[in-house]
Amino acid sequence: MNDSLLPHIVLLGTGGTIAATADKATRLTDYVVTEGIEALLTAVPEINRLARIRCKQVFNIESHAITNSMLLKLAACINKELTKPDVHGVVVTHGTDTLEETAYFLNLTLKSNKPVVIVGAMRPGSALSADGPLNLYNAILLASSPQATGHGVLVMLNDRIGAARFISKASTTQPDAFRSSDQGYIGQVHNDNIHIFQTPATLHTTQTEFSLNGIKALPMVDIIYDHQNAGPHLYAASVAAGAQGIVIAATGNGSVSPQALKGIKLAAKRKVVCVRSSRTGSGVVTHSDTDNKSGLVSGNSLNPQKARILLMLALDATRDQEKIQWYFDRY
Ligand code: ASP
Repeated sequence: MNDSLLPHIVLLGTGGTIAATADKATRLTDYVVTEGIEALLTAVPEINRLARIRCKQVFNIESHAITNSMLLKLAACINKELTKPDVHGVVVTHGTDTLEETAYFLNLTLKSNKPVVIVGAMRPGSALSADGPLNLYNAILLASSPQATGHGVLVMLNDRIGAARFISKASTTQPDAFRSSDQGYIGQVHNDNIHIFQTPATLHTTQTEFSLNGIKALPMVDIIYDHQNAGPHLYAASVAAGAQGIVIAATGNGSVSPQALKGIKLAAKRKVVCVRSSRTGSGVVTHSDTDNKSGLVSGNSLNPQKARILLMLALDATRDQEKIQWYFDRY
């Protein structure tokens, strides 16, 4: 195909294992981020058949080092690229450890219906059976296709397409680390063919009330893990440090221990909003009749790290507990 007829995709690099190398091909951990986004692209010349690519390095780090200000910078960069009429879509390379947090943040804050695909790899580029090159190829294929529109931000790894709202990293090292256990995958990619199975019912991108215009920083939200023999002291420390929201990685269906409840009451007195999420890894935290009285919001099916993302954006928009619950019920 004449190059000028190919879709124009912006490829943004942020680091992660997909951009890392180790000292030998059989070393799958203890790698270092060494490669820039141009090098990742050059390693997969087949991509040139799919799209015209413009690369940009936003940052180049492991994803557990990503901060709120980096999220804001990345979202602003993508929003700006997507307003350009000649840009068809955006692909972001990212570390897998916190990929789901960035993907969900973008899913709530990007203001475009154009395709945005986040991609990573579980094995460094130097590994035998490195998964990055095919994941990157599939991500560009997906972002170039009209089939990628209307589902919010998508995640492409291990041949599977996930929705940012539902996909989560569920294994420390396995190549199929990303799972969408209750809700299933959006689709699959095989042999240059995209198969879409379903679309997420939750609101995203242009459908949300969140806009990052004028936002310089996000409210501080902590996550506190609940367990047997817990104490209220972490809640006190979090409030003292300036948290405006706390997500509880609570037991089972969002059940909080008596000591955690003391901490929650202490936080509520200081107008800190607490959300009950679950440490189980799947299922919905259902509404409870006692939530309102205790100043609690139920976290729906968001895991604690995604609940933290939504709570930061919600607190930026409102302090009203009912409105925050409304966001958790729909986003
Ligand atoms: N440590 C890596 C990260 O940046 C893990 C990965 O990318 O697979 O999240």
